[in-house]
Amino acid sequence: MVIFKSLQPDINLPTHLTDWDWLFDSPISPISRFPESELAGYLNVATKERVNWKQVKDYSTYISTALVKKYGLKEGDAVSLFSQNTIWYPVAMFGGLRAGAMISGASPAYNIEEMSYALKTARAKFLMTTPGSMGVAAASAKEAGIPKENVFLLEGELPGYTTIQDLIRIGKGYGDGGQTPAFKIPPGKKNKDVCGFLSFSSGTTGLPKAVMISHQNVIAQCLQIAQITPSNHKKIMAVLPLFHITGLVHQLHLPVLLNAEVILLPSFTLPSMLSAVVEYKLSELLLVPPILIRLVRDPIVNNYDLRHVTRFSSGAAPLSEEIIQLLQKKFPGTGFKQGYGMTESCSCITAHPPEKYSYKYANSGGSIVASTEVKIIKDDGTEADVNESGEILARGPQIVMGYLNNPAATRETFDTDGWLHTGDQGHIDSQGMIYITDRIKEMIKVKGIGVAPAELEDLLLGHPKVEDVAVLGVKDEYAGELPKAFVVLKKGVNRGERVGKELIAFVREKKTRYKWVKEIEFVDDIPKSTSGKILRRMLRDRANHAERAV
Ligand code: AMP
Repeated sequence: MVIFKSLQPDINLPTHLTDWDWLFDSPISPISRFPESELAGYLNVATKERVNWKQVKDYSTYISTALVKKYGLKEGDAVSLFSQNTIWYPVAMFGGLRAGAMISGASPAYNIEEMSYALKTARAKFLMTTPGSMGVAAASAKEAGIPKENVFLLEGELPGYTTIQDLIRIGKGYGDGGQTPAFKIPPGKKNKDVCGFLSFSSGTTGLPKAVMISHQNVIAQCLQIAQITPSNHKKIMAVLPLFHITGLVHQLHLPVLLNAEVILLPSFTLPSMLSAVVEYKLSELLLVPPILIRLVRDPIVNNYDLRHVTRFSSGAAPLSEEIIQLLQKKFPGTGFKQGYGMTESCSCITAHPPEKYSYKYANSGGSIVASTEVKIIKDDGTEADVNESGEILARGPQIVMGYLNNPAATRETFDTDGWLHTGDQGHIDSQGMIYITDRIKEMIKVKGIGVAPAELEDLLLGHPKVEDVAVLGVKDEYAGELPKAFVVLKKGVNRGERVGKELIAFVREKKTRYKWVKEIEFVDDIPKSTSGKILRRMLRDRANHAERAV
């Protein structure tokens, strides 16, 4: 059996603590280790609002008290957070978590249909949002059967809605000083058996699913990454969305463990990010490929003095060799690291350890994080050795519990021996570094965010002129990939630019921007297996062949 093991020492995992207890009420908590004056926290660069960890602990305690006592939140209820990046996001998140809820992050770009789907899939009972998203939030809450009194505002005010500040006041006002007891892992269970977070991913196939992330998954990943993080990493930029697994782990959780200040941007624009980097003298920048591409290509970058930046960190999608070289040329003397993983592995399976922070290893996804094993299965079903390519499988304490209410998809992705089938192809070299060479699953990655082809196929199949359809990702210089639809038209409908534009407009009207279809190609048929599954590889090969023939 060829199993690749981590070269790092094993992590020491608590098995009965909740995520909240571990971070805020255990000896490992920065609150136990530092005086309040030395506590870092979350800082919003736009509004300059800041909360340190002690305040996060106090506020989240009051919020959990209000949710349990006044709003009847029960253990295992799902709370959906639908918001841009704000310091009140983690405060509310930890409040819900302390009360024993499952926290589900949703993209603030979702429209009513997408948000209703997310709420229904997670079976959310509560929703927290911002005034700018209230239109979509209120309509989707109604659609998903969430009463208005269970919809809260994380920021700002709107008539008729309870705000997070109200929750803090309400909770504090309860007789016990707002200290309702924190949720504990029930007797007979461990923290690996209790779900704390529901994140959305399409997995290897089908529609987006709610990924069940346990309390232990997040604790494990924090310990795995902390072990390979230099001790001087004391300021962490949070420009990536908080609803994505990278934001959840690296921008919300890990900083608490490291007592590192979170420099939080409400949303991404290149100038606002660069201003924050300069103002707070940020030395390591955790980014995704589309932002790194802007960094090397956009001339406005030259207006900022970035000499204090010592390292770039990338993840969530592949970064091309060309961009890596341009980055090294534009920022000489900097280091580079990557993380590779997925929502189903609670972020990283592999990451660069400090001794490999170099452009020499930049096209690698790093080496296996602590307490984790990797197995690579070749096309013929046998296990790959060093430098042999195949599908990457991973096993470790960060591998999640499965998909909520979807045993079939869970069985397909997580096998009985605990291996996660990533749907990614790659190999491991003699130094233990992983190289991701292809994605064999259906997922399309647009600007680092996963898009499920099945979602767009379902939509287009509902169009009166479409007989059949398959959606694939095609390369795009900035977004990494964009969806392309291969369409078989109904009999009697003529192919042509007009129908193509009509279908593109149809998707734009129904789906949020990052899911928009870049182009339509009309085809005579969609290749399918005998069981009716779209043969995506065959379609891709056909498309590539046709392109070469032009
Ligand atoms: P998500 O669940 O949104 O994080 O998406 C996970 C998928 O993103 C993985 O299965 C990969 O296909 C891709 N991915 C993540 N990190 C990397 C990386 N460093 N290099 C290449 N692809 C990556």
